[in-house]
Amino acid sequence: MSNKNTIDKPINFIRHQINDDLDSGLHSSIQTRFPPEPNGYLHIGHAKSICLNFGLAKDYNGKCNLRFDDTNPAKEAIEFVDSIRADIKWLGFEWDGEIQYSSNYFPKFYDYARELINKDLAYVCFLNAEQTREYRGTLKQAGKSSPHRDTSIEENLELLAKMKAGKFSEGECVLRAKIDMASSFMCLRDPALYRIRFDKHHQTGNDWRIYPMYDFAHCISDAIEGITHSLCTLEFQDNRRLYDWILDNLDDFNKPKRPHQYEFSRLNLEYTVMSKRKLQQLVEDKLVSGWDDPRMPTISGLRRRGYTPASIRDFSDRIGISKVDSMTDMKILEDALRDDLNTAARRTMGVIDPIRVIIENYPEDQVETLQAPIHPQNEAMGKREIFFSRELFIDKADFEEIAPNKKFKRLAINKEVRLRNAYVINATTFDTDFDGNVTTVYATFDADTLGKNPADGRKVKGVIHFVEATKALKAEFRLYDRLFTLENPGKNDHFEQLINPESLTVTYGVVEPSMANAEPGRAYQFEREGYFCKDSESSDNQLIFNKTVSLRDTWSS
Ligand code: ATP
Ligand code: MG
Repeated sequence: MSNKNTIDKPINFIRHQINDDLDSGLHSSIQTRFPPEPNGYLHIGHAKSICLNFGLAKDYNGKCNLRFDDTNPAKEAIEFVDSIRADIKWLGFEWDGEIQYSSNYFPKFYDYARELINKDLAYVCFLNAEQTREYRGTLKQAGKSSPHRDTSIEENLELLAKMKAGKFSEGECVLRAKIDMASSFMCLRDPALYRIRFDKHHQTGNDWRIYPMYDFAHCISDAIEGITHSLCTLEFQDNRRLYDWILDNLDDFNKPKRPHQYEFSRLNLEYTVMSKRKLQQLVEDKLVSGWDDPRMPTISGLRRRGYTPASIRDFSDRIGISKVDSMTDMKILEDALRDDLNTAARRTMGVIDPIRVIIENYPEDQVETLQAPIHPQNEAMGKREIFFSRELFIDKADFEEIAPNKKFKRLAINKEVRLRNAYVINATTFDTDFDGNVTTVYATFDADTLGKNPADGRKVKGVIHFVEATKALKAEFRLYDRLFTLENPGKNDHFEQLINPESLTVTYGVVEPSMANAEPGRAYQFEREGYFCKDSESSDNQLIFNKTVSLRDTWSS
């Protein structure tokens, strides 16, 4: 079978490159990887990278593995490893082979560091952080050689062994590559390859006192795993020179088939932040309820909010891959979600701001069971039971004493309306509280209008939703708005002060009784109200629903 891409997807520069590499015979199949650092929860930006890497492997009959890039013991934890695995699976992807950890390669990294020293391409440097900065020079000015640059190979091998044995303190020295202190790429001015850290590592415990720097570990890990196309975000563009330098100088990897790095622009979404550090700060400062707060752009937050994996994959296709940094409109994400939910979500009824309706000509003590479609355009989804009786709830916004104009399609005194999936009713009078707010509407129903128009041919255009009162379940509704008040809050030094005070509003209303059994995270369309899902904190005593997304775009208004 050919490994060439036959899937009907827009061609981008990465697909062009892969096609070329398969055509020229450089590779017979491709291998990509997703390399998260387990120092936080995944967010929608990571989803872009996951869909890209796993998606390419799938389309080209290649492979994609998962590698935890765990070279910084200070910030990493098993909690993050577990959540990352769960999030990738939830998004619908399966990694090839065993999960890899950069930490599995610690002994190999050490051998490769020794190989560079043996080739006189690395040395142990004792300059402190400030001196190192000073020696590095600037973009306009070449750097200066460290006084340790010419230490002999034998001595460097010994010094590295001492670093490994914990004979030096943290920060006392580092292993540096010997490249070019005058390079126009700052990352080539003798970058650090290894540093000393005494923290306990979540995979290797206290075995190691030295840890490889990201740039050293990343390219070697890719090479060990046989990655063909190493995809990363644009901020690593310059580092590609170092990536290539390291692989070109190691005998095991200096061959045409070694991995090559290609950079694409990262996803930035409006009105939110996308850096793990900033997201962590929101969690730690308790500005949100946790990593899975439904306002967070994390995969776990989106899942709790009612997003579907299909909508996130579709979003990722819609935004595409390019080399241009930009801000993505939240509308694109929400449109992808709406399109999925419109066909997939079951329908139900809930009243968010309820007022009572008494149907005066309906028998007391009678509760009628009616059938309503689960999806109006998809009969195959079947029917659900709803109820009708003398006492119902409708939304406050669906009643006015006097219809304000002819277009008004809701309930008013002497203006008929159809109750969705039930009868036509006509309002006669109403009660108010001391402040003049409507509390109860009195109405009559036309028994001959169930599933059909009135027999005398009169037209009833308006349809409103309702919930029968005796079986209604009380519910808390959590309504969300953008998390930040600014389009690009991350640019502000005090982004945490820009949280939108209206990003969460809590209100109380009622839902159909069947919603007690709703599965948390699965979005339903509450007819006319929007998509909602049961929250994971919901219990039998307290039903909680998150608003997933509105029925129509409300962001651009
Ligand atoms: P850190 O700030 O801790 O480096 P990171 O967001 O870069 O965090 P990683 O765990 O290093 O997180 O990311 C794993 C992969 O996801 C990397 O290949 C990275 O390029 C990619 N990635 C991270 N953020 C985005 C984003 N906003 N858009 C696209 N890809 C992203
Ligand atoms: Mg990173």
